[in-house]
Amino acid sequence: RKRDDVDVEKLEQQVQDLDPKGSYTSFSDLPLSLPTQEGLKACHFTTLTPIQARAVPLALHGSDILGAAKTGSGKTLAFIVPVLENLYRKQCVGQDAGLGAMIIAPTRELAIQIFDVLVKIGRKGHLFSAGLVIGGKSLQEEQSALARMNIVVCTPGRMLQHLSQTALFSVDNVQMLVLDEADRILDMGFQRDLDAILEYLPKDRQTLLFSATQTKRVSDLARLSLRDPEYVSTSEQG
Ligand code: ADP
Ligand code: MG
Repeated sequence: RKRDDVDVEKLEQQVQDLDPKGSYTSFSDLPLSLPTQEGLKACHFTTLTPIQARAVPLALHGSDILGAAKTGSGKTLAFIVPVLENLYRKQCVGQDAGLGAMIIAPTRELAIQIFDVLVKIGRKGHLFSAGLVIGGKSLQEEQSALARMNIVVCTPGRMLQHLSQTALFSVDNVQMLVLDEADRILDMGFQRDLDAILEYLPKDRQTLLFSATQTKRVSDLARLSLRDPEYVSTSEQG
């Protein structure tokens, strides 16, 4: 066996042994791959924010999550770290692995922000390939880039366009779906696009849904997209 396989097995065991409801204060308290640890260190992230402290262990463990916390509470890392780690441990990265994670944001600007964080945390030794699908390039250009991505950050309308028009684009290996700012996605009228996207994705995926507010429409979406979710709210603690 290769050394990488041994490391991944060891990490997997540590994640199995982790108490997903335990209380953790630092990223270093969690079983994270060396590339992620290095990436976080390079960005000077050490202490977990409250939403990260609750969501990351649960998400590492494989749970679906419905997360509500106000703007500025650190929701981006609460999903980026589990996406990187879960794909790493499943070895769903590299040239032939296909698309392993889809991160959906309401606007192009937000998608770009998420992509920037992903790249910063991921550049210390992770081997995934990631990209943006937010329009602004031709469908064809995006299409050929998509064929090589392990992680895509996208907006709902543009992603649905690819799913319905790009015959060669497979989402059969998608392990994780992230819906960021779900309340805004719905406010912007993307409900039908989201419903259609969900139809394309494998049912046995893990889904992380984050929202700044809890509305009726968000809980309806949660019912449709999440399986037995852990509810993580830190609105009281700020
Ligand atoms: P949200 O999505 O909840 O609005 P962000 O993920 O955009 O919040 O994070 C808000 C700010 O907090 C960003 O500038 C980010 O770099 C910073 N931040 C996030 N997590 C941490 C952390 N664990 N330690 C220090 N700063 C953090
Ligand atoms: Mg955010």
